Amino acid sequence: MRREVQQEELLRVPVHMKLHYRFPAGAHYERFFKEMKETGRIMGVRCPECRRVLVPPRPVCGECFARTEEWVQVGPKGTVVAYTSICFSFIDLTTGKPRPIPYGAGLIQLDGAYSAINHILEEGDPGKLYIGMRVEAVLKEKREGNIGDILYFKGIEE
Ligand SMILES: [Zn+2]
Repeated sequence: MRREVQQEELLRVPVHMKLHYRFPAGAHYERFFKEMKETGRIMGVRCPECRRVLVPPRPVCGECFARTEEWVQVGPKGTVVAYTSICFSFIDLTTGKPRPIPYGAGLIQLDGAYSAINHILEEGDPGKLYIGMRVEAVLKEKREGNIGDILYFKGIEE
């Protein structure tokens, strides 16, 4: 049996909305951001079962499903475990302006952490970025309590 499909022109209604919204960060992110803002320390949580340190902090370990309540300081140094070089100028959500290109973005495993944090790398030249690159978090002088308090990770010599 053949079904006939009717081609009908869809009615389109353009809607432009200006939305301002805020959402709660949750207890773990609130502590994570507050600690970074007030002391400049980057904190993670240790799983009581597998002992892995999760950064960013999660209230429950994704492997063991155990609640995480032990806070530990990590970084500010770490190791690049994945990266990319970005050559398209996206709007930087923290400034509202296009970010100068090229810049790097990567997953950084902070010293003492099991998981990795996704963030901006100062180095954008793909020829200079590599897995295993040692980096250090560069924090804003006047922090606000959000992930933008880490400006970027810069390469370091050790
Ligand atoms: Zn665990």
